[in-house]
Parts: sequence; C-alpha cells; structure tokens
Amino acid sequence: MTIHKTNKDDTKTQASDVKTSRVSLQDRNIYSYHLDELEQFVTPKFRAKQIYNWLYKHYAINTESMKNIPKNLQEVLQQAFSFPNITPIRIEESNDGTKKYLFQTNDGATFESVFIKMREKEYDENNRVKKGEKYTFCVSSQVGCRVGCVFCSTAKGGFVRNLSAGEIVEQVVALKRDNNLDAHKSINIVFMGMGEPLDNLNNVAKAIKILSHEEGLCIATRRQTISTSGIAPQIERLGAMKLGVQIALSLHAVDDALRSRLIPMNKVYNIERVLEALRNFPLDTRKRILFEYLVIKDINDDLGSAKKLVKLLHGFRAKVNLIPFNPHAESEFQRPCPEKMQNFADYLYKKGIVATIRESKGIDISAACGQLRAKQIKMQ
Ligand code: SF4
Repeated sequence: MTIHKTNKDDTKTQASDVKTSRVSLQDRNIYSYHLDELEQFVTPKFRAKQIYNWLYKHYAINTESMKNIPKNLQEVLQQAFSFPNITPIRIEESNDGTKKYLFQTNDGATFESVFIKMREKEYDENNRVKKGEKYTFCVSSQVGCRVGCVFCSTAKGGFVRNLSAGEIVEQVVALKRDNNLDAHKSINIVFMGMGEPLDNLNNVAKAIKILSHEEGLCIATRRQTISTSGIAPQIERLGAMKLGVQIALSLHAVDDALRSRLIPMNKVYNIERVLEALRNFPLDTRKRILFEYLVIKDINDDLGSAKKLVKLLHGFRAKVNLIPFNPHAESEFQRPCPEKMQNFADYLYKKGIVATIRESKGIDISAACGQLRAKQIKMQ
C-alpha cells in the first residue's frame, strides 16, 4: 500500500493513490506500524512522523483531529487504516486505584488489561513534589491462552487467537488516554495479562519496538518485562533478538511434579531446561532475572521449598517476587498466611537472594487474570 503525494501541494494528495486491496483487516490497524513502515506508505516522509505524533503524543482517535495533516490525506488515512481497534466495554476500579479494563476487538473478541498505580505522588515538607506517581500497565498478548495453568481463569476459557502487534500497542495508548497520563509520563509495562507472550513472540516483539520508538510512546525496553510460563526455545529466541527487555519466569514450584501440576507446559520444558535457557539470556548489567513464585497455602509456602529455591537459583542474578495467591471462586487454592510468606522471604534474603512480597493490587475487583472476561461471558 502506498500513499503518494501527487504534487508540491500537500492538499492535493489523492485517495485514489491508496492501494488497499492487499491490506488485510489486521494490517489495517494503524498501531501495527513502526514509523519506518509508515514512512513507506506516506510521502513526504515527515507526514508519517506527524501522524505518529498525533497517535502517540495526543492519543488521536480519528484523523479529523490531526490538525496539521491535509484534509485529503486525513480522508485517505481514514479509509486505509482502522483506528480505534479496541473498545473498553467494562472497567472495574479498585479502592487502591487499580483499574481493570475489558476490551473488545473489532472482531468481537475480548481481553483484559490492568492499570496499576504503584505509588502515589509524594511531597516534601514544603509541599513540593518529591516523587511522582508510578504506574505499571499489565497488557495481554493473546485472547485466551494455550498453556492451561490450573490456577488461571484465562486458561479455563481456552485459546481464541493471538493479538496483533497493533492491538497490543493500542492497549497502552488506551490506558494512557483514559487515565489522562501525559505522553511523556514514564510507565512500566508487564506482558503479564492474558496469554503467553512467547507463544505470540513475533507480534509481541514488534509491539515492543513500536512502544519504545522515540517518536512514539518512547517506553524504554528496560521498562518492559515479558513474563513467561517457560517455553524454553522461545526464551532463547527472545534473547537472540536482543531487544533489551526484562524477563520474568513464572516458576511457582521447586520440583517438576508440582510445577507440572500447576503449569502443564512443564511437562514439555521442565525446570532444568527452562533455567538452562535463562542462564544465557542477555541481561542489562544492573538488572536481574525475575522469578515469580505464586505462594499457595500448604502447597509451596514451606521453608523446605524456600531452601530448594535457593539451590535452584544458584548462579543467577535473580530477584524473586513472592505473590500471594489471590483466591477466586473457580480455584481450589487458598491464600497463604502473611507470617509464612514473610518467613519464606526472610530465608531467601538471608541466603543473599533479593526477594519481595508483591502487594496485591486491586484485590476488591476481578484482579486475577481472566476473571473479568469470565464474568462478562457468564452474563451474555
Ligand atoms: S497464567 Fe498466563 S500462561 Fe498460564 S494459562 Fe494463564 S495466561 Fe496462560
């Protein structure tokens, strides 16, 4: 598809120059395009930068608002590309400011994203802002998921389809827009919503490149974390891409028997194989590999498990995130008691492993991945 400028006057750009026949519905999502690609579609090149600016600095939802784009080109763009492509159909807000969004795609699929306020603004004694707010966006990479973790609501709905790069990028734009966050406000992104990001690696990698583009949202790749259930060969592929992203492994268990029960993927790539893949993952010198450990009452919350964990992580620059299980109606598991979790964390700390207990955000809403979607499906 090309959009040619036909003469020196920008306003003479002609709709007839757009060859949309080769463009599939997914390709029409304007957020799927890296600036370099957009520059091939639109001449002169600087127009592509202007369009990017409208999309990512002003969160434009139509071409009419793109004031410095000639009218004819606005019409051409509106015909050639589709946006917006995802619509929030339900939003739940927690007392702690966490907001869970259920988005619907143009083909009627639904998936979730979460806006998490990690820190409120802090002031000094003179009422000057000492520290700004801190936000993390939890984004989805698929509609549903193939992995089938037993503790996960998303898994229960099965796999529907991959999200396109554009649909991934658009979640971030929509969350920033809806929460009035300035384009320059830095945020962290975790690919920890619905889906296994490494099962949709090409689209996720493209989305990361678009999200980090300096003319766009400019979200540094070191602020983007891919969380995986452990598809070992894809961890190696991601490492070879050298994107500069962080990686988090949902470990959750210290022996294969329990891990295979919780995450069926472990039967294909067991703990040893996954750790081997992670050992070669390219890490920024100041960063660590994150190991997510979902602490489940009387299942994996004992000190024996903590000891095994220390052994497994020997030689890693590791950080362990202990996540108390968030009970929900569809799960047999219980939340661990805080004392036991603290003992677990203290043990890791004593053994030289950085460990944090993750504060559960949005506990009063459908906080666990897939719950809001499951609720919506039940209502239909
Ligand atoms: S926890 Fe993640 S990887 Fe596991 S089934 Fe749910 S969405 Fe998929």
